[in-house]
Amino acid sequence: MKVINYNGHNIEYHIEYKRIKNLYIQIKDHEVIVKAPKFLRENYIDEFVNKKAKWIYTKLNEERQVQEEREYTEEDYINLEKKLNIICKDLITETKLVPNKIRIRNIKYAWGTCSANKNITINLKLVDKTDEEIKYVVLHELCHLKYMNHSNRFWNLVEKYMPNYKEIRKKLKHNR
Ligand SMILES: [Zn+2]
Repeated sequence: MKVINYNGHNIEYHIEYKRIKNLYIQIKDHEVIVKAPKFLRENYIDEFVNKKAKWIYTKLNEERQVQEEREYTEEDYINLEKKLNIICKDLITETKLVPNKIRIRNIKYAWGTCSANKNITINLKLVDKTDEEIKYVVLHELCHLKYMNHSNRFWNLVEKYMPNYKEIRKKLKHNR
C-alpha cells in the first residue's frame, strides 16, 4: 500500500500490474487501484498518481456522498404527515378504501407497505418526493386493501384513480 497526500489528506493506493497498454486509476468501494502496464517504472506511476491527486480525492468524496444516507429529522416527519393528511383524505373519499391505520416509518426496502390487518406504512423518505409520487404510493397501498397482490385487477384499480401511474412509478424507481 502506498500513500499520497492531497491538501493534508492521506490517500492510500496500490498498484496492480497488468497486461495493458495504458496506465489508469480505478476507484471502487473506497479503494484506489492503479492499473499499470508491466513495463512501467514505479516512480513514473507514483508521479502519475500524484498529478491525479485532486481528481482521486474528488472521486472518493463523491463515492462517499452517494452512499451516505441523509439524516431524517422530526421536521421531515411533520412535513410528510401534513402532506399525507391531505392526500389520504382525498384518496379515501374517492376510492372508499379505508385503512385501519396509516403510519410513517423510515423503512429500507419499500416506499410503502400494507399489512393483512389493513395497516399502511408509508416510507419517511417520500418527504423528498413530489406530491404526485406520494399520492401514487398511498393509492398503491390503498388498493392492496382490496387486492393483496399485484394482479391485473390490482393494477386496473390503481389506474382507475391514477391513469398516469406507470409514468410516476417509473420515476420513483429511477431516482431512488
Ligand atoms: Zn404493492
